Amino acid sequence: MPNRNSQSRTPPKRKKPILSIRARLIVLALLAIAPLMFERFQGLETARANRTERAYAEVSDLARRGAEAQEEVISSVRALLQVAAHVYTRIPFEQNDCSKYLKGLSNNFPWIETISIAETDGQIRCSTQKRAVGLNIADRAHFQQALHKRDFAISDYFINATRQIPSVFAAFPVVDDNNSVTAVILASINLDWMNKLAASAAQKPGSSVLLIDGTGTLAAASASEQNLIGKSFANLPLVHDMLAHDQGTMTGAGLDGVRRIFAYVRVPYTQARLAVGLDEDAVHNGIDRAISVAYLQLAGIGIFVFIVTWFGGEQLVVRPIRSLVRTVMRFGRGDLEARASPESWVAEFEPLAAAFDDMANKLATREEELRIANQHLDELASLDGLTGLANRRGFDRELERAWQNAGDRREPVALMMIDIDHFKLYNDRYGHVAGDTCLRAVGETLSLVTLEQAVLVARYGGEEFALLLPGLDVARAASLAEEARKSIEDLMITHAEAPRGLVTISIGVDSLVPTTGEAAADLVEAADNALYAAKRNGRNAVVARSPLLFRMAS
Ligand code: GH3
Ligand code: MG
Ligand code: MG
Repeated sequence: MPNRNSQSRTPPKRKKPILSIRARLIVLALLAIAPLMFERFQGLETARANRTERAYAEVSDLARRGAEAQEEVISSVRALLQVAAHVYTRIPFEQNDCSKYLKGLSNNFPWIETISIAETDGQIRCSTQKRAVGLNIADRAHFQQALHKRDFAISDYFINATRQIPSVFAAFPVVDDNNSVTAVILASINLDWMNKLAASAAQKPGSSVLLIDGTGTLAAASASEQNLIGKSFANLPLVHDMLAHDQGTMTGAGLDGVRRIFAYVRVPYTQARLAVGLDEDAVHNGIDRAISVAYLQLAGIGIFVFIVTWFGGEQLVVRPIRSLVRTVMRFGRGDLEARASPESWVAEFEPLAAAFDDMANKLATREEELRIANQHLDELASLDGLTGLANRRGFDRELERAWQNAGDRREPVALMMIDIDHFKLYNDRYGHVAGDTCLRAVGETLSLVTLEQAVLVARYGGEEFALLLPGLDVARAASLAEEARKSIEDLMITHAEAPRGLVTISIGVDSLVPTTGEAAADLVEAADNALYAAKRNGRNAVVARSPLLFRMAS
């Protein structure tokens, strides 16, 4: 069952990082430029709307002027016909005179094409156009209207069959003194005003001037659309809408499919609509380009801001963070010298760097204290509590080191294995405490005697000691062992149970130059065998290299 500690040791699951700092900086920078760009777009959109407005005003003005021109023309024709009708009732004309009279009348009116007089049955009696004489126009609405309503009437526009040009007829009744209608005087009017209007509209690129009769047929048009004259456009939504109202403005595809800003007005006295249009693209051309440029600028600025923020963010924000992270990681990997302070930090990071350094200093101090404590513990663990000499653990470690050094230098390393003779009996006779005192005395004496030669005097176990003597060959080691043996004898510690009545020691000595294939344990074994031999030889003796090994070597 997991306890609290084991739970707390489980590393916390790392959360997935959300938006990086650089991404946040980019979002912020883009948000900062957004209002500027928005204002620019709004300005452009307003300018575009203003242009549309101006274009509407322009085409409305042109259409109105066209209608006024037509009205003037028709009014003048009405006045002329009124006078002509009046004169006609009073002067009986012969057919030839009649034509001459009519010609004379129309001379000052360049917009009058022909002028004719029809009998009440519709028969044309005389006309400025010879071919017209004898034609019957009884079925024409304007004729009938003038005849029956006794008033000025205007025909719808129609294409003159002979000249293939649009015309409109004006009709006025001739009323005699008896108040009866005796004839109808008619004039066909040309569309000169249309040309003037078209010419003034033509100053604008992509302009279009259209005269659409009450049935939706194109009666007249400016140059670019003249090939469409005579065709019906009643089904075109634009024309349909125009015929439904007396005047208005609209934007849509014109007769030639080009989108135009139109203004239209009903031509006075008729059902026709005069429409003036300007090419929408031409009107908005500059502005649309400016809007496209603004979008490109926006994209450009966006990319610029992105790049600047990306690299600027890297230099100014991310790099310091990375550097701090690197320092922390170095410290985490065990480099206790790693500190943030050598670098200079931006204001916001300074406290973080200082906090890290403070923490690092404390951790480094603790680490050092811990290292010293561990070293101390290690030393304690390598010492024998009773004698203060190295213990078996300390001996083993030092032996390996000495063996290694001797191998490197190709020098001998000697080992003495020492055992107190009949120590069991000593304990039995004098007690354990006395035994311990004896052990301490033997250890001290051995240390003193070998002070200069031995790198280590260890209590190998129980009442056994081991001495490491680097650089000593067997002979020198044996001579030193003899000195040691004698110094213990000279302590004159009474041991009544021993054959000589004193505490004595037996020593096994050997010395080896480490060669490949040999281990330090071989030296221990050799010295141990020699000690065994010394015991067998009667104790209180030194044996340098055991006879067993001699045999093996020889
Ligand atoms: P030999 O001459 O063959 O070495 O005989 P010995 O009696 O010395 O050898 P043996 O191995 O039979 O006895 C060793 C004795 O050392 C047994 C034990 O009582 C004693 N001894 C071991 N460690 C200590 C110690 O720390 N204190 C005391 N007082 N005695 C110890
Ligand atoms: Mg022993
Ligand atoms: Mg012994």
